[in-house]
Amino acid sequence: MLEENLKDVEEKIQQACARAGRDRSEVTLIAVSKTKPEEVLKEAYDLGIRVFGENKVQELTDKYEALPKDIHWHMIGHLQRNKVKYIIDKAELIHSVDSMRLAEAIEKEAAKRELIVDVLLEVNVAKEESKFGLMPEEVEEFVEKAAKFPHIRVKGLMTIAPFVDNPETNRPVFARLRKLSVDIDAKKVNNITMSILSMGMTNDYQVAIEEGATMVRVGTGIFGARNYTQV
Ligand SMILES: *Cc1c(COP(=O)(O)O)cnc(C)c1O
Repeated sequence: MLEENLKDVEEKIQQACARAGRDRSEVTLIAVSKTKPEEVLKEAYDLGIRVFGENKVQELTDKYEALPKDIHWHMIGHLQRNKVKYIIDKAELIHSVDSMRLAEAIEKEAAKRELIVDVLLEVNVAKEESKFGLMPEEVEEFVEKAAKFPHIRVKGLMTIAPFVDNPETNRPVFARLRKLSVDIDAKKVNNITMSILSMGMTNDYQVAIEEGATMVRVGTGIFGARNYTQV
């Protein structure tokens, strides 16, 4: 099943790239493996997957220890400041910087360890009450402040689009994040780039790619439904 799912997702990514006139190499597939046991990740690894996304610190660090060292781990979930220290040297990219206090905590820990940490700013494009993330109108000022942190490199933006039946409904959300990143990029703020747009999940990654996503985060579409009661 995993092999077929991966093939199917890969095909759909290629088709979306073709429709948008983009090169397949512009889009990184992140296999979102949260709640899935290590054996299943190993199976995906053996099928060639090297980029995994997790949303919990403990789960990411456990899997990091257990699985091969050439895996690239992405932290995609809300991050508490007191847990930064556990993943700062394990996550290749933190997608979910959603407050200045979190950015400060990352800066402090990174300075202590003499690391430079790559991050994305999470934007609550659709302004959903239930979601973390900066409001779109806050992002520019945030970027200017974050640019002053010597141990943080802002690489782009991330959003979690609303849960919708028809993925087309999220097209304006993705377009808005893209526009925000283009506008910020045009300001040429020192020390930051807007090269990464992390948007699109199982339900809507094809639309997200058409709208410029450079990273898509696909869980269910690769691993099947999650069973939270087993965790
Ligand atoms: C779980 C999760 C995903 C993957 O969701 P699917 O719908 O299973 O593809 C993507 N991004 C984030 C931030 C998640 O928490």
